[in-house]
Amino acid sequence: MAAPQLRRLFSPTLARAFAPVSRIANTRQCSASIAPEASSFNSGLSFEMSDELKALQDMSRKFAREEIMPVAAEHDKTGEYPWEIIKKAHALGLVNGHIPESCGGPGLGILDACVITEELAYACTGIQTAIEANSLAEMPVILAGSPEQQKKYLGRMMEEALMAAYCVTEPGAGSDVAGIKTRAEKKGDEYVINGQKMWITNGGVANWYFVLAKTDPTAKAGQAFTGFIVDADSPGITRGRKEWNMGQRASDTRGITFEDVVVPKENVLGAEGLGFKIAMGAFDKTRPPVAAGAVGLAQRALDEATKYAMERKTMGKPIFMHQAVSFILADMAVGVETSRLAMHRAAWEIDQGRRNTYFASIAKCLAGDVANKCAADAVQVFGGNGFNTDYPVEKLMRDAKIYQIYEGTAQIQRMIIGRELIDKAKMMNM
Ligand SMILES: Cc1cc2nc3c(=O)[nH]c(=O)nc-3n(C[C@H](O)[C@H](O)[C@H](O)COP(=O)(O)OP(=O)(O)OC[C@H]3O[C@@H](n4cnc5c(N)ncnc54)[C@H](O)[C@@H]3O)c2cc1C
Repeated sequence: MAAPQLRRLFSPTLARAFAPVSRIANTRQCSASIAPEASSFNSGLSFEMSDELKALQDMSRKFAREEIMPVAAEHDKTGEYPWEIIKKAHALGLVNGHIPESCGGPGLGILDACVITEELAYACTGIQTAIEANSLAEMPVILAGSPEQQKKYLGRMMEEALMAAYCVTEPGAGSDVAGIKTRAEKKGDEYVINGQKMWITNGGVANWYFVLAKTDPTAKAGQAFTGFIVDADSPGITRGRKEWNMGQRASDTRGITFEDVVVPKENVLGAEGLGFKIAMGAFDKTRPPVAAGAVGLAQRALDEATKYAMERKTMGKPIFMHQAVSFILADMAVGVETSRLAMHRAAWEIDQGRRNTYFASIAKCLAGDVANKCAADAVQVFGGNGFNTDYPVEKLMRDAKIYQIYEGTAQIQRMIIGRELIDKAKMMNM
């Protein structure tokens, strides 16, 4: 089972057993090498990873490089769902890390999840997204589920490699969550759901869905919606075709139709009317890992571009010796390092039990933009080869785009940051 595997990882012996995979550029250590005596004020801030976290990083990295990277291009080409990889990742405890120990999970923190996710994303963000979508679906259950709901729906995720999906977006409403039309009507001890969801990651492979539906059409968004756990084999559910997206093709994205789907009242999360808050609240915990996925992709773009710039020669020297090319690489490094810091900060804040909405949006926004810039820059460094599918960077460019779209677009993140700034300014009577 996954959780004991992961708990074992936290023994120092096992930590030593995982030899770090060699790095192309030595830019990934989360440490600042300032001598302790350099400042007497530095004890409050540390960039050092604990031994346990380093061991988790090494294990994730080894798995990503050995199991995911060799098959990533093939999954991109065929769109085949990566079941075999997911089963192996599940056995190692790299899926569902945040499921609480009370449900048989390892109960990892968000920073732990980010470290795992960055490593998986480095190898293939399509496969990483398929894995990460479980967290998005499970988070409302972790935040608002009763002990019975958690045991039933989270417990089974630990027993075998199952997937879950978060169903909020509809054909007519994505950013405008308050505009969703799916209805859930109470009839006795049951609810009947009708509506259509769109762009649902893991839609075709999920064992259960988190579904946001309107229960009170007259109420404001804050009270109008309810979150449900819906078994995927419930009569009345139709899974649409697998969408053929620009990138991240290993991930399964579909429309899901609900036609008179009967859900027992025991499957309401929290209480009727709390759905909007629950669905949006999940993002504080899931956006840092989404940012981590983008950072993993950006790091891969930087590493590939650096390696290529050392090998490729023009005008008698390796292209990295042309200042124009080395400045491209330098700008990529600036983006990678700063977006990783923002992502770690957002994760760390929520792990301290503090509201991190502001930091989560900054991290997601910055990392999404950086991933797109780095992927495009890597294609530029590769020249004509970069435009070709025989080289790894065109996939990175296609895969990167979604980081500016899902879990709140780049514009929505900026709206949230702006709103948080104003709220803070008002609180401080600025
Ligand atoms: C591959 C993929 C996987 C996905 N997975 C899931 C999933 O698992 N579950 C799920 O529920 N959803 C999922 N989504 C949906 C995703 O979250 C939405 O696509 C996203 O939130 C944007 O919504 P939209 O597509 O309706 O675009 P729209 O909301 O129509 O936005 C269109 C454009 O207008 C901009 N815009 C909209 N409103 C504003 C505003 N007020 N101010 C400024 N700009 C604005 C947007 O930024 C965007 O550029 C997925 C989408 C994709 C493509």
